[in-house]
Amino acid sequence: MAEYHTQKMRALRQRRQQAGLCQSCGERPPVPRLLHCQPCLNEGRARSILRRAQMRQLVLDGYGSRCACCGESEPDFLNLDHVNGQSGDRESEYATYRQAIKEGFPPTFRLLCWNCNCGREKNKDRRCPHETKRSFNRHA
Ligand SMILES: [Zn+2]
Ligand SMILES: [Zn+2]
Ligand SMILES: [Zn+2]
Repeated sequence: MAEYHTQKMRALRQRRQQAGLCQSCGERPPVPRLLHCQPCLNEGRARSILRRAQMRQLVLDGYGSRCACCGESEPDFLNLDHVNGQSGDRESEYATYRQAIKEGFPPTFRLLCWNCNCGREKNKDRRCPHETKRSFNRHA
């Protein structure tokens, strides 16, 4: 892994990026927003290639950097959430990011802020109080 950080590798990656090619293989164009092509991402290299902070930034960008419920836009408050709340098989936060990136930011995930996350946990129907209030207003 040492050579990964050498000047030579950096120059090579830069050339590939400028040429609009995947930084891993230099053969295929990268997925929009990412520096690597889909096959390389699928090979599971994403784990080592993309630093965690980068992954998080990609996911935030991919989902509009706002809480899907209340619109909170402070990045430190935001977390990726399974829309269907599959809390049974709790994967790591970054495994979820990786999945969302691999699948091209599907609507099965969304960003929620801590407030809305906690609001959901507290309610039996797993709906944020914001949501309950909104639907109450609609039906009133
Ligand atoms: Zn590639
Ligand atoms: Zn929120
Ligand atoms: Zn909410």
